[in-house]
Amino acid sequence: MKLKRVKGTKDILPGEVERWRRLEEKIREVMARYNYREIRTPIFEFTELFAKGTGQDTDIVTKEMYTFLDKGGRSLTLSPEGTPPVIRAYLENNLGRRSPLKKLFYIAPMFRQENPQAGRLRQFHQYGVEAIGSPQPQIDVEVISLCVDIYQELGLDGLELKLNSIGCRDCRASYRTKLRNYLADKADELCAECQRRLTRNPLRCFDCKKEGCKLIMKEAPVILDDLCERCREHFQTVKEGLSDLGISFKVDPTLVRGLDYYTRTVFEVLGPGLGAQDALCGGGRYDDLVEELGGVPTPAVGFAAGMERLLLCLNEKENSPNSRPDLFLISLGLQAQRLCLRLIRKLRKAGLRCEMDFLGRSLKSQLREANRERASFALVIGDRELETGEANLKEMESGQELKVNWADIEGICSRIRGKDVNS
Ligand code: AMP
Repeated sequence: MKLKRVKGTKDILPGEVERWRRLEEKIREVMARYNYREIRTPIFEFTELFAKGTGQDTDIVTKEMYTFLDKGGRSLTLSPEGTPPVIRAYLENNLGRRSPLKKLFYIAPMFRQENPQAGRLRQFHQYGVEAIGSPQPQIDVEVISLCVDIYQELGLDGLELKLNSIGCRDCRASYRTKLRNYLADKADELCAECQRRLTRNPLRCFDCKKEGCKLIMKEAPVILDDLCERCREHFQTVKEGLSDLGISFKVDPTLVRGLDYYTRTVFEVLGPGLGAQDALCGGGRYDDLVEELGGVPTPAVGFAAGMERLLLCLNEKENSPNSRPDLFLISLGLQAQRLCLRLIRKLRKAGLRCEMDFLGRSLKSQLREANRERASFALVIGDRELETGEANLKEMESGQELKVNWADIEGICSRIRGKDVNS
């Protein structure tokens, strides 16, 4: 039997890993400038956290979670999203005690049993932020600006930022009744899923991709017309703040997002050329979640962004600038190999990237390997070199050679760093 990776997962191979690392570095760099601190939570949590946090009626919880019983009979779930674990950690570690506004970010794998396709995997990666503690619309603006800055600094053009407000508990309750009334006499025309949504959370009908439902939802009342005064003001300030920063956006009154916990501001960034799976990132304000997870009422706002899709968008040329060895030690015979093992450790400790032969190959085939690895230099050590204490340091590109004392680690390092054997 041939062993295969699990459907919907991907191996990130050498060559591609460098792109991931560069992306992670950029994310960490921008996060640091915005003064967000990294948090790492476990990959699995008690299932209850997502049932409560993500929401019982969401697609994630009803259909997509990887849930299992451990040997103690506890129900655990691989994290399908980052927000509930971060809030759990925030509460459990009392992170709000010292700072009334806690700004956190994460980069982590997530797991959802969806139908895999381009840009949609079962294990994927997200980076995200959670700013916990401020009710002010200005922090919504900061979070969105941080989100946009990462894309801009990566050189991504053609982004679309969609923005909406879905109100608070109060204004949403009356809107929900209005929407339910509108949909009530069209219930027969809705798909089975939307009929279920109708009783539980009719706002989610806006997310339906079925043509019949889309047509009905096109005429449906939108929440923006029913926002209470405070939510309206909040939304206005967010819009003004974004305009002040020159961040363009499009208000989309049908944007409701698939998670249950959002309040007021919601947003999504769409990427260019991604086809059906074009959402790069989604986020918003979630003023009730901390309380729902057992904390004191604490407003918060954040986003989560997919990394696979972002890398698809970037489609940058592959180059691995730091993946070539500085030096390949060529050893001829067991004694020479033994010496090379000692030398290479010292050279590596001195900071050089080095490689040597572990297959007992001939001189010719070791040289071929050094070329294939694109090593900058090669140092050949055989019986004669063992005796004399000298060896030839060869610059691979020019073919220039220089005799060096192989025990002189510092000398070899400075020759290699100086790049020219004649210098
Ligand atoms: P969500 O947590 O569902 O709001 O998703 C936030 C972002 O994560 C999306 O906009 C996507 O970029 C990414 N994402 C969500 N689900 C997947 C998936 N199954 N595969 C790849 N990326 C995903």
